[in-house]
Amino acid sequence: MPWQKFLGLKVPSSQSAFLKRRYSVTTDIRSFQLCSRQYGHFAVRGYAPAHSVQIYYGTLIHQVLDRAHAHYAGLRDPETEGQFPTNQDIENYFDEVDQALRVRGVQSVRSSTQAAERKAALRRLKLFNQIEGPELYPRVRDTEYRLQSDQGDYLLYGTVDVLADSPGWLPGMKGEIWDYKGANRPEPNTEKFHQYEFQMLVYAELYRERNGYYPERAILYFLNELDTAEESQIRPPEALLEVPLDPKRIEVALYIFKSTVSDIEKCRRKDEWPEPQAELLDKNTCDICDIRWNCPAHVGKYPMRYP
Ligand code: SF4
Repeated sequence: MPWQKFLGLKVPSSQSAFLKRRYSVTTDIRSFQLCSRQYGHFAVRGYAPAHSVQIYYGTLIHQVLDRAHAHYAGLRDPETEGQFPTNQDIENYFDEVDQALRVRGVQSVRSSTQAAERKAALRRLKLFNQIEGPELYPRVRDTEYRLQSDQGDYLLYGTVDVLADSPGWLPGMKGEIWDYKGANRPEPNTEKFHQYEFQMLVYAELYRERNGYYPERAILYFLNELDTAEESQIRPPEALLEVPLDPKRIEVALYIFKSTVSDIEKCRRKDEWPEPQAELLDKNTCDICDIRWNCPAHVGKYPMRYP
């Protein structure tokens, strides 16, 4: 019998490889801190959100600005190298990204205010292009700059929106990291304010590990603050926030990152994802959460909503 030829064959049992999990500051740590129940359902168990309102505006802004940077660098068309995008260019890039997002089913959840939200987003992007473009675009060294660090049990990663040369230095020497926010600047000493700072402090450490030194500056840019700049065409002071890069604060941020990863791992082991305590609930997040209707934190408050 042919199978008897293999009687003496020994097959080693399969080895299970240890794959390190990747944790990002925004998609994992901040989401888990905001609500572990929501994080468990969507990021770990893999439920698909019915509406992707949270990512619509952010993705729109990032992708249009990415195209504006690529336009100046001549990456999309060599003929535009060194040219600042016009309002019409921004409008074209906006339509391109908006349509691509709609095809993927990513759009604003509030259909009643969708048109106004799109109009506001386009207006802010044009203002950014006019106000910041002439000074910023020539300094941009890279966009969607990926950073990663091996933390032993897991990989820590993040993506910086823009890596720019510092003014007054030769290109490639000192760098600035920029992160765009489709939001207003939060009040100082609020949870949101600390979360944004936390993100930049972790990015600064990732940058140091990759380059051997900290970035010269870490900048948060709040595009919604540009609403007041329509007439003046001057950047409102609230739009730009420089996060001080104190090594002690960076150390604390890394400690918080590490202990949050440990909390996530504990929840994963038990597959239990508790909702936040009442005083830590974020109303904006809960109002558009797909699983709010049966959330123990809001018994009887939200009716069942069908996708
Ligand atoms: S409704 Fe709020 S508390 Fe409940 S799961 Fe959703 S985000 Fe979390």
